[in-house]
Amino acid sequence: EDKILEVKDLTKYFDVYNGLFGKKKYVHAVENVSFDLYKSETLGIVGESGSGKSTLGRVLLKLIKHTSGKVVYRDKDIMSLRSRDFGALRRELQMVFQDPYASLNPRIKIGDAIAEPLVANRVVSSYGEARKKVYELLELVGLQTELYERYPYEFSGGQRQRISIARALALEPKILVCDEAVSALDVSVQAQILNLFNSLKKQLDLTYLFISHDLSVVKHISDRIMVMYLGEIMELAPTDKIFERTLHPYTEALISAIPEPKSKEKRKRIILEGDIPSPIDPPMGCRFASRCFKAMEICKNEHPQILEVQPNHFVRCHLYSEGKED
Ligand code: SF4
Ligand code: MG
Repeated sequence: EDKILEVKDLTKYFDVYNGLFGKKKYVHAVENVSFDLYKSETLGIVGESGSGKSTLGRVLLKLIKHTSGKVVYRDKDIMSLRSRDFGALRRELQMVFQDPYASLNPRIKIGDAIAEPLVANRVVSSYGEARKKVYELLELVGLQTELYERYPYEFSGGQRQRISIARALALEPKILVCDEAVSALDVSVQAQILNLFNSLKKQLDLTYLFISHDLSVVKHISDRIMVMYLGEIMELAPTDKIFERTLHPYTEALISAIPEPKSKEKRKRIILEGDIPSPIDPPMGCRFASRCFKAMEICKNEHPQILEVQPNHFVRCHLYSEGKED
């Protein structure tokens, strides 16, 4: 499989104001995250709010500055590129956000909103050319070209998400980072947008990073799933393995929370006590220890490393510290 992106020890800390003379403190939002993204795959990233998944997406696209680590794209560490040198590559990495209404200017016709990146990047040089491109993009996302002249308020949530997808596709990206891209939508509309993502992926040969707090959404779209907790990767494996050979207790808990209306034997719901700990001064041992139903003595004191315990199956947990699954 071809790697399209290689992420190495990526870390993002945010400064916390701690008084004039206080010791410097940091939010450990993303810590030593390493993974490869393969061309044409959908990698789902799942975790509760506060797990660092959105920050990871933003850092990857250089929307916020990283603290340390590397992200290699087209043989270049894009983290170390200055914005002038990143310009051409930026077009190939685009983001779709949760709330399309917030990202669309209410006073700009949706056609012009889609045309804007084309004009700004001089992909088109005349209004006629821009219009033609926008028509193609509208059709691509399943909207009629007559809608060019309409304003955002005239659209439903699902249609607005189609519009922002069209805008994200305008510059022909190779990688699309979707951050909670269907989370604001009704379940039936979610399914339509997920289908759209799937068909666009095939048509345009896209690679997705699909971020969501909702494992049932991620499950249906992803080839592989990455589970994050408090800034770290806890488990990373192909989707079928995540569900059939679940290794990490946190992943087990997330899976147990997915409702299964059709299944006869009810899965036992694992209730996690308490909240995700503060990302300021995270626990020194396993970051999940305070809520883990399998925690052992070692878990409080020793930070588990992430290990490939089966081919393509990575887990960070002392239960598998020997490096193989028993
Ligand atoms: Fe639970 Fe310990 Fe594994 Fe952490 S390392 S997930 S606390 S068993
Ligand atoms: Mg988020």
